[in-house]
This record gives sequence, structure tokens and C-alpha cells, in this order.
Amino acid sequence: MVDLKNWLDQQREKGGLRSLRPVARRGKGHLTLAEDDRDLIDFSSNDYLALAEHPALIAAARHALSQFGAGSGASRLMSGDLVVHHELEEAVAQLKGKEAALTFGSGYMANTGIIPALAGRHDLIFSDRLNHASIHDGCRLSGARLIRFRHNDLNHLEDLLTKNQGRGSALIVVESIYSMDGDRCPLRELVALKERFGCLLMVDEAHGTGVFGPNGGGVIEEDGVSGGVDLAMGTFGKALGSYGAYVAGSAEMMEYLLNRARSFIFSTALPASVAAASLAAVQLVRKEPSLRRELHEKIALFKSLLRSGGYSGALGPSQIIPVLIGESGPALHKVELLREQGIFATAVRPPTVPDGTARLRFSITRHHSMADLTQAAEALLEIMDA
Ligand SMILES: *Cc1c(COP(=O)(O)O)cnc(C)c1O
Repeated sequence: MVDLKNWLDQQREKGGLRSLRPVARRGKGHLTLAEDDRDLIDFSSNDYLALAEHPALIAAARHALSQFGAGSGASRLMSGDLVVHHELEEAVAQLKGKEAALTFGSGYMANTGIIPALAGRHDLIFSDRLNHASIHDGCRLSGARLIRFRHNDLNHLEDLLTKNQGRGSALIVVESIYSMDGDRCPLRELVALKERFGCLLMVDEAHGTGVFGPNGGGVIEEDGVSGGVDLAMGTFGKALGSYGAYVAGSAEMMEYLLNRARSFIFSTALPASVAAASLAAVQLVRKEPSLRRELHEKIALFKSLLRSGGYSGALGPSQIIPVLIGESGPALHKVELLREQGIFATAVRPPTVPDGTARLRFSITRHHSMADLTQAAEALLEIMDA
């Protein structure tokens, strides 16, 4: 067994120990940390459309809470299956342009349930090297042969697919918008490739749904490829401002998954209030494209402020904006300097990213005012040489 004290001491020495710190949310994307009461602008939230505080979600949750109580009491396959789960699944299927959908307790549970249900010991999984930990864990849990291809490198994927032809059926798993750099998967080319090789394709749209696509259906909607995506997965906990997750696909696929995905079968159904909030969010996202438009205006403004201030590095195509620093120490120092100026952003460091490419990560949300974005851009430009 692991020696706890020893392990913790070692991590502490390396500066690699994680810890929790409660925040107090002040509304409109501002927060304070427990250690002092300085007002900070939150640039680390995934609540991109600012729906977590939206009156429609709160009202829907409150109504369901008073009608159905706090917990769902059982798994979906026992007595926990409520009408609101089905309404939510229909709305999600429509949003993602698929026949049907199935909800899960969280994105982590969806990925660790779906992937092992589809792939086993005799199968192959091709997974992007920068895929989220939940995808990686799902792949490991499946027992399939895991083949990781270089991030967003479809030539590498094609080579690997060619080399492994005839060795079993294959699943390809990618994200549409990658969570660390906010870069985007070339989905049209990927769909062509998966069709050529006859693979299943799963796309995790944790950071795409609600933010991209004419109806908020994600990058698969924007790129017009939902027909070529067999499993369109995503979470309600990010742009949709609620909690839980989903996968959309064919009705046959959903029937299979509800019989095989263990994290679906052996876990309590989402509470009605949570499902109702998610449903309200999906409806809003379709009904009010202005939410998305406002977000994209803010993203463009922040990027143009950095550009006009002389920043010349890549800023990516999405609401997640990486600012490359280099070594971990300076990146952490800059996080502190930003905090002194009222900006809450996080550093992404090795081993999450390659050595020498530690970066600051800014995620823009609809909460950010013009003043917030200006303050952050000015602070960032000022500390870049510090
Ligand atoms: C956040 C995230 C998940 C996990 O979703 P939760 O609902 O938070 O468990 C899965 N995949 C990706 C790409 C994510 O960013």
C-alpha cells in the first residue's frame, strides 16, 4: 500500500500537491476566495453562456424540486425514471441532430460507461493524445487496445488505422474543442477518414455544445457532420449551466447503451430539478441565439484587446484562450500577479501539457463585461514581461 505521509510530503516538495479552496460566488462571474475578500473576475469557469444563474434554469429547477423532491430515489431502470428525463433526452437528440439520446450522472460517468460498453479486449480504440482524462479512463477500463494518435494529427491517425487494419473493429474518440488550448478538431476530414476505414466515431463536445453551431448544437452542427458522428457526447455542466451529461446517436445505439453502460445502469438517476434545469438550458440555447452571439462578441473583443496591446502569440479559435508562458515557475508567478490585479485565471502545466509549454488559460464567459475584459487584457499585457 502507498505510504500516505511520504507521498504527500514528496508532492508538497515538488509543488505538485492539489488542494481545495472554497470560493464565494458574487454573481456576474465575480468571486472571492476564502483567504481574503478581494473581488476577482473569474476566467476559469466553464459556465460559458452564464446559464447557471439564468432565471429560466432556476425557475425550472425550483418547480421540479417542489414537485418531485430533492433526490430521484433510484436508478433509471428501477423507479428513478421520470418524464423529465425523457423530455430532456428528446430535446438533446434534437439539438444534436440525432435520433435519440441518453443522460448520465456526469461527463466522467458517461465516458467511463459508454466506451467500455462499445469496445472490449478484441477491439481497438484510437484516441487523441490530448483527450480528457475521463475518455482516457474509459479506454483503459474497456480493456481494448488503446492507440493514441498525435493531437489533431489526422495523417498520424490514418497511418495508424492503415497499420492496424484487420486487427479488430475500431472506435475513434476525439473532442470537438480541446479543453486546455481551445483548439478545434478537423471533424469533416475525420468523418471522411472514419467512413473510409469503417470505424465508429465518438465526439466529446463538453466545450462545444451551446457555444458553436447555428442552434448551439456544437461543432458537429456547425461543420454539418452530425450524421457521420455515431456518438455525440457532452455535458450539461459547462455551457449548459447545470449538471449531468448525455450521449446522442441512433435509437438502436441508445437501447444498447442503456443495457450495457454500467455507469448508467448502476447509478441513481439525475434529480428532477437538475434534469429540469438542463432541459431549460437546452431550450434556451435553441431559442436564443443572442446568448451565443454575445459570447462570441466578448471572445473577439478580448482577443482584439490582446492583439492591439502587442500580443502576437496564437489565441485559438474558441472561448478557451491559451497564453503561452514556457516554464511552470513563471506561469505560477504570473497567476499570482494576475490575482493581485483582480483576475482569477489558472496555469496549465506539465505533465498536462508538454515540458516548456506551461500556459495561462483564460475562458471567456457571457458574464464578462467590457470593463472586466479590458481590465484582464491590460493586466495580462502588463505582466507578460514580469
Ligand atoms: C469536463 C469534461 C468532461 C467531464 O464532464 P463532467 O460532467 O464535468 O464530469 C468530459 N470530457 C471533457 C472533454 C470535459 O472537458
